[in-house]
Amino acid sequence: MAIVWPCPVSVDEYVAAGRGVRVPRPDCPGCASQMTLWAGYWRHVRDAGGCRRIFVPRARCGVCAATHAVLPAFVLAGRLDVADTVGTVLAEVLSGPAGVRPAAARVGVPHTTARGWVRRFAGRASGLAVAFAALAVDLGGPSIGPATDTGRWALAAIGEAFAAASELPGWLVVGCWRFACAVTGGRLIAANTTSPYLIVGKRRFMPPIPLRG
Ligand SMILES: [Zn+2]
Repeated sequence: MAIVWPCPVSVDEYVAAGRGVRVPRPDCPGCASQMTLWAGYWRHVRDAGGCRRIFVPRARCGVCAATHAVLPAFVLAGRLDVADTVGTVLAEVLSGPAGVRPAAARVGVPHTTARGWVRRFAGRASGLAVAFAALAVDLGGPSIGPATDTGRWALAAIGEAFAAASELPGWLVVGCWRFACAVTGGRLIAANTTSPYLIVGKRRFMPPIPLRG
């Protein structure tokens, strides 16, 4: 299981830090004990059309004897492209007249890849809309009613939830799509989710933590 933390630093900065990247020590998703950072692994992400190699630390819970990957919020589970790229395409295609091809070309990804994101998001849009609308209200934002276009409704709900979160310390700089990635545990457009989005539970809603230098 992966833990996604609301990483505020740019992909460039994260890449440059290599193994020395600073991540917060998360609490165990199983028992809430504080975990210790424990080795890690390398993986690739694609940002601005180029592939980059990043280090993903693992955290270990001594009580549960389990380890979990600690992913920065720009990484989506099972996806090469960063959350901002995916979100930019989703917003452009679902909220305007633009097709997938021009949106994909602008961010430098194959249009077939971008079409897959849009389909997946559209297929889960009503569940995402309900969950993000609930989160927006939970965070003190306005309540957003259903819309006939569920894709646009989900986008609006994500936007309102992020706007409400931005009133709390630390979230504004994280940005909307990293926020959406963080609160869904990286599974915004994942193939399957065991429990769909009851993000509102505070345990998954990990607040941004200032990293001490
Ligand atoms: Zn534990």
